[in-house]
Amino acid sequence: MIDLSDVHAGYGRIEVLRGVSLNVPRGTVTALLGPNGAGKSTLVKVLSGQLRATAGHVHLGGVHVNDAPPDELARAGLCTIPEGRAIFPNLTVAENLRLMRGDADLVYARFPKLKARHRQLAGSMSGGEQQMLAFSRALITDPAVVVIDELSMGLAPVIVAELYEVVKELAAGGVTMLIVEQFAETASAVADQVVVMTHGEISEDNDLASVYFGGTS
Ligand code: ATP
Repeated sequence: MIDLSDVHAGYGRIEVLRGVSLNVPRGTVTALLGPNGAGKSTLVKVLSGQLRATAGHVHLGGVHVNDAPPDELARAGLCTIPEGRAIFPNLTVAENLRLMRGDADLVYARFPKLKARHRQLAGSMSGGEQQMLAFSRALITDPAVVVIDELSMGLAPVIVAELYEVVKELAAGGVTMLIVEQFAETASAVADQVVVMTHGEISEDNDLASVYFGGTS
């Protein structure tokens, strides 16, 4: 469903992704781990069409991302939840959900906390509640592919566990998911596949300990 082959990308003359190949089969969860600066967010930008690959191929479903404008990616069922969450802090929870153009009751059923706070300004909620709201995009838009950058960044373990329950449910419903994570343990428990990026390449051996405790960054 997500298929990258020998993808290169970067900023100006700086090459960040140096030949990334990755396959995420339909309805499975892949966790992408790696130290700061490895290029994880850059990969998310390439997948969401914000940044063009300079070489290689990126396919989402049947769509060749290299040539596709963002609206075509949306039609192909791509939902990206970027780092920083991309919600509107000065709008209420209900208004944010309205902008996502879907059935807010679906969200309220899954996240009762958001229902209780539907009139609250999104920016005044806790980090966990804001991530739930950002996550709602994946519930509400009926996506085929969900890409999430830094899912558990700054969140309490209990919230992270709650969000991963939703990840599992979405995958069970056939949604394909790529999740950028900092915490190997949480991600490994849920993911079907764990890959590690270092220096713009996906490492083959998946030796998480060497990445996190061996100082390879
Ligand atoms: P983190 O976990 O810290 O977010 P990351 O693995 O997501 O790290 P990226 O954000 O993809 O890493 O950054 C990879 C490299 O690309 C870094 O060296 C970063 O400084 C550089 N970089 C990122 N965005 C830009 C940009 N807009 N212009 C120039 N260089 C950039």
